[in-house]
Amino acid sequence: MTNPFFASWDTPFSAPPFDSIATAHFQPAYAEALAAHQAEVTAIADSAETPSFENTVAALEKSGKALKRVDMVFNQLSSANTDEALQAVELEMAPVVTRHWNAIFLNPKLFARVDALFGKRPGLGLTDEQLRVLERYHLDFVRSGAALSADERLRYAAITERLSVLGTQFGQNVLNDERDSVFALTEAEVAGLSDPAKAAAAQTARDRKLNAPYAMTASRSSVEPVLQSGTDRATREKAWRAFVRRGANSNANDNRKVIAETVALRAELAQLLGYPTYAHYKLSDTMAKTPEAARGLLEEVWGHGRRKALEDRDALQALAGGEGATLTLEPWDWRFYAERLRLARYDFDASELKPYFELGKVVDAAFYAAGRLFGLSFVPRDDVPVYHPDVRVWEVTREGKPIGLFYGDYFARPGKRSGAWMTSFREQSKIEGEQSPLIVNTCNFNKPPEGEPALLSLDEARTVFHEMGHGLHGLLSSVTYPRISGTNVVRDFVELPSQIFEHWLESDPVLERMTHYLTGEQIPAPLLLRMRAARKAGQGFETVEFTSSALLDMDYHAAGLGPDGDVDAFEQGVLAGLGMPTEISLRHASTHFLHIFSGDGYAAGYYSYMWSEVLDADGFGAFKEAGDPFDPATAERLYRFIYSAGGSRDYGEAYRLFRGRDPDIGGLLEGRGFLPEADGQEA
Ligand SMILES: [Zn+2]
Repeated sequence: MTNPFFASWDTPFSAPPFDSIATAHFQPAYAEALAAHQAEVTAIADSAETPSFENTVAALEKSGKALKRVDMVFNQLSSANTDEALQAVELEMAPVVTRHWNAIFLNPKLFARVDALFGKRPGLGLTDEQLRVLERYHLDFVRSGAALSADERLRYAAITERLSVLGTQFGQNVLNDERDSVFALTEAEVAGLSDPAKAAAAQTARDRKLNAPYAMTASRSSVEPVLQSGTDRATREKAWRAFVRRGANSNANDNRKVIAETVALRAELAQLLGYPTYAHYKLSDTMAKTPEAARGLLEEVWGHGRRKALEDRDALQALAGGEGATLTLEPWDWRFYAERLRLARYDFDASELKPYFELGKVVDAAFYAAGRLFGLSFVPRDDVPVYHPDVRVWEVTREGKPIGLFYGDYFARPGKRSGAWMTSFREQSKIEGEQSPLIVNTCNFNKPPEGEPALLSLDEARTVFHEMGHGLHGLLSSVTYPRISGTNVVRDFVELPSQIFEHWLESDPVLERMTHYLTGEQIPAPLLLRMRAARKAGQGFETVEFTSSALLDMDYHAAGLGPDGDVDAFEQGVLAGLGMPTEISLRHASTHFLHIFSGDGYAAGYYSYMWSEVLDADGFGAFKEAGDPFDPATAERLYRFIYSAGGSRDYGEAYRLFRGRDPDIGGLLEGRGFLPEADGQEA
């Protein structure tokens, strides 16, 4: 069998031919792609020509195409459809790929060319976009150790290689721990769960070949229904304990040593590059710019959230007591009683909405919003190869012109890591003709039994819109150079296109399309009213669980663990310092905090979601002010300066061009129900 990575792809949109890609192809494909890229880069670095934008920066942008092709396919399969064989390849390749990039960014001759161009950039006659790309490359080199001495470069390379292994290990440990923690459950133990949640638990028992009617694992999609509606308190406690102990079970998947080594190496790396802490290093290349600015936002919101959560705690305790349960509220009780409180206060039962949020309809509604805002249409393509039968593909056209493919991979399964994410198999660029983007959304919704509909919660529907927002950022990208294409922007800006798109889910024209999967009726007006009234009810809890994780992340990367490397003590110390309500747990505890430890993408960067929320809440306000969620002029500015622009200009400037002014935190506080007026409405 020939290796498809050594051939051109004769598929629609030259999409990856998954039907002929096998695990055995990756190592030889990587070997050849890495060697080819290395040869291209060496030719650029050793060129006798005087450095020019074309023969240096543009040449680098055009290099490494085979590597990107294998890397993007491999990364998605490793996250969404992995097994032991693929995990072994992943562990082996991680340091090899890091070594490869280090050899490029630590190449003194190559950096000398980039540095020379950077030094005389005003006189080069570059376009605005070319100037941005040159500045970006120079910064990439400096941040990757290019300006260090020879000895320091060696140490930098050793640290990053080791960090790549640790990051891979961390992610695999969490996945393996979730997979290995399986609990058989009886009928009594699943009492209170909805029919779809029970069906998912029954499917888990069959998948794991257990001699029991139901089962749960320690994954989020398995645990959350139990915590929310399971009436058996002991089962709730079991689910909660398994969930929070992922990666801390003193077994082969224990992540505590991985964390201690990671945090120490990151601190050393930052100091090598001249920054006092890793947080300072990471934040210097963001909108926030400093750890103090990010922390300032988190602490302001934390104060509001904690106050609200403590009020809610007292109400939940009173409700539990009032039901005759002589219990002291514990973390495994919060979601359960919060649902009951929502019902008591607002007469709103979140599960009443589910029949209106069938997955296919939610996806179609997201397509509809993208159509109204940006002129997109989506047509199913059944002839594009996929890596799992659950994956669906659409061709995307804009004003009649095909612009790319959109893949949706929505259901949870063993071998897929928790969470939801957007990625691509190819990014948009125009440097060598139009490259159309191939964009993927991955989620973890419970798969219904054959022939039954997948009914989502409001939160899950919001996730569909969130990832679609990232997807649109990739699909609508219209820049020349790959380095600044689509989502290749700073971390605290990248959640703006995703989070602002969530707002359209709850706009009237979209909700009108969410019809009951059996009767075809729209959501009844009284239910909508109750949904909107209850909307802010959980914000204390959500703010506390998110913000505590974001502050924990910042403390790991600003303060560090201390010489004993005691992860448990460090985490407890941070929470005690915050005055964390004991009835609420971190959204992500240290040993399964994939965002910050399974790679460095969100390290000292988990705050980014909240930073972007300031922008998305304020940004959606522009549509409210226009009196139309699809106001064409506002949508056009959103397209021009945000969704299509990638990293082609300063992010603060891009926002101002869209909004006409700087962002204001008021929208976030109002959206979370933390402003006095909003509190008043809730009485
Ligand atoms: Zn996101």
